[in-house]
Amino acid sequence: MATCLLPHHLKDEQLREILELAKDWVLINGLVFKPRTGSTDGVSECAPFALFPSVVPRRILKQAADCMVDFNRLMYRVAQDHEFLKEALKSVIRVDPFVRALWDIHCKVREEGLAQPVSLDHYRNDFMIKVTDGTKITDAGIPPSSAMELKQIELNTIASASAGIIGSACRLHRYTLDLAGKAYSPEQIPDNDPGLVVARGMVKAWELYGNKSAVILFMGIKEESNIFDQRLLEFKVHQLNRSIRVIRRTLSDLHSRASLSEDRRLIIDDCEVALVLLRDGYSPDSYPSDREWSARLLLERSKAIKCPTVRSQLSGCKKIQQVLARSGAVEKYISDPAAVERIRATFAGQYGLDMGPEGDDAVKKAIASPDKYVLKPQREGGGNNLYGVEMKARLEEIGSTPEREAYILMEKIAPLSERNYLVKQGLPIALTDVVSELGTYGVHIGSGEKEILNLHCGHLMRTKVQGTDEGGLSAGIAAYDTPFLV
Ligand code: ADP
Ligand code: MG
Ligand code: MG
Repeated sequence: MATCLLPHHLKDEQLREILELAKDWVLINGLVFKPRTGSTDGVSECAPFALFPSVVPRRILKQAADCMVDFNRLMYRVAQDHEFLKEALKSVIRVDPFVRALWDIHCKVREEGLAQPVSLDHYRNDFMIKVTDGTKITDAGIPPSSAMELKQIELNTIASASAGIIGSACRLHRYTLDLAGKAYSPEQIPDNDPGLVVARGMVKAWELYGNKSAVILFMGIKEESNIFDQRLLEFKVHQLNRSIRVIRRTLSDLHSRASLSEDRRLIIDDCEVALVLLRDGYSPDSYPSDREWSARLLLERSKAIKCPTVRSQLSGCKKIQQVLARSGAVEKYISDPAAVERIRATFAGQYGLDMGPEGDDAVKKAIASPDKYVLKPQREGGGNNLYGVEMKARLEEIGSTPEREAYILMEKIAPLSERNYLVKQGLPIALTDVVSELGTYGVHIGSGEKEILNLHCGHLMRTKVQGTDEGGLSAGIAAYDTPFLV
C-alpha cells in the first residue's frame, strides 16, 4: 500500500493517548468555548476540533488567499454604492422586515450625512472545494487537482468569527502529527494567526480616529460561548499597543447608557469610543425590542469608526452575492481583468427569486431537483438555509408569491471528502468521512474612495461529517481544523 497521507491507521491505544494529550493541549492553548452560566459547573470545554489536519491541495489554498484583496476591494466599493444596494435589495426589503430595518438605518444615516468617513471591515470569505465526480481524498493520495474547484459559499461582512481562536490550531496539528509519528515539513501546515492581522487593522483604525484616550468597544452579547475568540482579539490589540483600552458592551447597554456629543462623538460610561467592533447585531434575535434598534441607529449615526457599517453589513446579504454573480456586475467595481477573473472563478451557480420569468424558472428547477440546490434567506450565523424536502415544501408553499423574494437559490456544492477524527464533547472518536469549509480572512480600511489598508490575513478551516447540511462551529456541527498542504 502507498504511504498514508495522514495517520489514519492508529491502534486504539495510541489513538487514546494522542486524544488525551490533544485535549489537554487544546484546553491549555485556548481552543475552548465558555459554558453558559448554569449549563455546567463553569469549567471550559474543548471546542470541537479535528484530531489531525485535513488535506487541501496547495494550489487551492493559494487561490483562496490570492483573491482576498480583490474581494476586500470589491465588497468595500459595493457597500459605498447606495444606488446599487438599493436596486439589488429592493425586492428583499419589501418582504423581509429585518433587512428593511437595517436599510432604514442606512438611509437615515445617509440623509443626515456620515459623521465618520473611515470604516474598517473584517471579512471572512468562505469556500468549499467542489468536486463534480465524487472525487475523494483517500489514504493512497489525492486525485488530480483539475477535478477540484474552489467555490465561494458566502462572504461574511459582520461578526466574522474565529480569527482569534484559530491561531493556535496549526501548532496543535503539528503536535498531533508528531505524536502519531507522521513525517511532514512545517510548510505543509502553514503558520496562521489571522487575529493578529485583524488586531493590526483595529489598531490602525483607532489611530485614524485620532484621540489617544478614546477606547475600542466590542459590541457583543452577555453570555457569549465564543467569548475567547473575541478576547484573543482584545489581547492582540493590547499586545500591539498597550495604551489602547478595550471595553465590551451589549446593544442594550448602549441603549441605556450611550449618548452622542454635539459633534456626534459616541460616549458610554464616560468613555469616548474610537472604534466599534460588532460581534452582535446580525440577527433579528439581536433586536428583541425597539431599544436595540435605537441603539443601533445611535451607533451608526456616531463618529465612531464601525466594523462594519450598516451598509457593509447589507453588502453581505446573500442577495448581493447573487446579483454580483451576474455578468458585468463585478466589472463595475474592479477594472483589472485578472482580478475580475480571480473573483469570478470562485462563483457558484446562483439564481434570483424575484417575481418574473427568471424567478419562476428557478423555483421550478429547485422543486424538480431539490438535492441540487440550497435555499438561502438573508440571515447570518448558520441554521437558516433550507435543503432537500424542506426546501421543496417551502417553495411549493411560497413559490408563486412575493415571499420568495426574501431568498436566493444557490447550487448545492458537493465538497471534496476525506477522512479524519472529529473530537466533540460526548461523542466517541472514530475515523469518519468528512468535508471542509475553507475561509480566508481579509481586513480593509477605506475612507470614501481611498483605500487605506487592504490585507489578506490567514484562513479558517472547519470540518464536519459528510452529509451534514449546515456547518456552524458554535452550533456544534463543525470542528476547528487546519489545511494539510500536498
Ligand atoms: P451563514 O451566513 O448562516 O453561515 P452560509 O451560506 O454560510 O450561511 O450557509 C451555512 C452553511 O450551509 C455553510 O457553512 C455550509 O456548510 C452550508 N452551505 C451553504 N451554502 C452551500 C452550498 N451552496 N452548497 C453546500 N453547502 C452549503
Ligand atoms: Mg454568514
Ligand atoms: Mg457561513
